[in-house]
Amino acid sequence: MTTTLLAGIGELVTCDAAFGDGSPLGILRDAALVIEDGVVAWAGPGAAAPATDRFLDAGGGCVVPGFVDSHTHLVFAGERSDEFAARMAGEPYTGGGIARTVLATRAATIEELRSGAAARLAEMTAGGTTTIEAKSGYGLTVADEVRLLEVSREFTRQTTFLGVHAVPQEYAGDREGYLDLVCGAMLEACAPLARWVDVFCDRGAFSESEARRVLSAGKAAGLMPRLHGNQLGYGPGAGLAVEVGAASVDHCTYLTDDDIDALAGSEVVATLLPGADFSTRAPYPDARRLVDAGVTVALATDCNPGTSYITSMPLMIALAVRELRMTPAQALLAATSGGAAALRDPRVGRLSPGASADFAVLDCPSFVHLAYRPGARLVVATAKHGDAVYERPGFSFSR
Ligand SMILES: [Zn+2]
Repeated sequence: MTTTLLAGIGELVTCDAAFGDGSPLGILRDAALVIEDGVVAWAGPGAAAPATDRFLDAGGGCVVPGFVDSHTHLVFAGERSDEFAARMAGEPYTGGGIARTVLATRAATIEELRSGAAARLAEMTAGGTTTIEAKSGYGLTVADEVRLLEVSREFTRQTTFLGVHAVPQEYAGDREGYLDLVCGAMLEACAPLARWVDVFCDRGAFSESEARRVLSAGKAAGLMPRLHGNQLGYGPGAGLAVEVGAASVDHCTYLTDDDIDALAGSEVVATLLPGADFSTRAPYPDARRLVDAGVTVALATDCNPGTSYITSMPLMIALAVRELRMTPAQALLAATSGGAAALRDPRVGRLSPGASADFAVLDCPSFVHLAYRPGARLVVATAKHGDAVYERPGFSFSR
């Protein structure tokens, strides 16, 4: 067993209310962490740290749990900057652009899919992200969905089958036939490669009854449900999430008071994706309403080529504070422990004993700088299971 001391932490944010100063963020100052075999074994004052085999130095900076990006469409080919430019010129988003990415993704080689995903994951890691979820949904044939999940599994264990992202062109006149395929051969082939089943339940996408059918079939195949809902207008997404016991309902831009009451009385996490609202010039959700009602909130990037080609969780935190009315503390919790709740993984999103030693070192005195200095490259190092997976040129904590 290797023990490592991470010392020189000016501000340690554990994101565990049972730890540190007793605030929801569980903050310790002038702190140290002891890591044993990739897991946090001890956290406390630097002066009281025990002896270890290995020594890392955070350089006096702020250490936060690695961000948990619980909603990404990591694996795809092509890009749609022309649609973004058109939208910014005043055209509304209606979801039709997914078909373009499907065609590009089907035409790509597995090496192209892998290298594109790896490049995006490298950006995420440089931004402090240590856990991601990744969805299929740009294949929409049995073989192509399988291929996307196989590539996704090279990057994360949190993989999601999203066969009901759009109706592919070859089924344009046979919507029922496509749903039969998704709930039949496609689900059968994809279930062994995925942990989650997801649906796009919204205006212009799939209806409540269609979404219920696919989520039920996914559950019967051993997958846990989550869904896209309430992005493009008021609708059934949040209520359906509560009904089927989904881990999370994602977007939540348009929620009624009844939706919020239903979420507050459930274990469903409301995952907010302000990058999509930013990139489609849509209204932002009011996160304060959710937090005040007692709903667990997560923040994620929704990284995808159409509506949020963004990999940065620090940007999500800044948007959440400026536009979603979250406090900096609420936003950091949503980007860490909130994401962990959305992925039902209690080992990540916190830095208290028993957690995976996944963290980001920030070159600033306080986590508040994540929202206070948007665009600054504050992350100087990112570690997963106690090992550096990113160090900014000029910084090394492996002394
Ligand atoms: Zn999405």
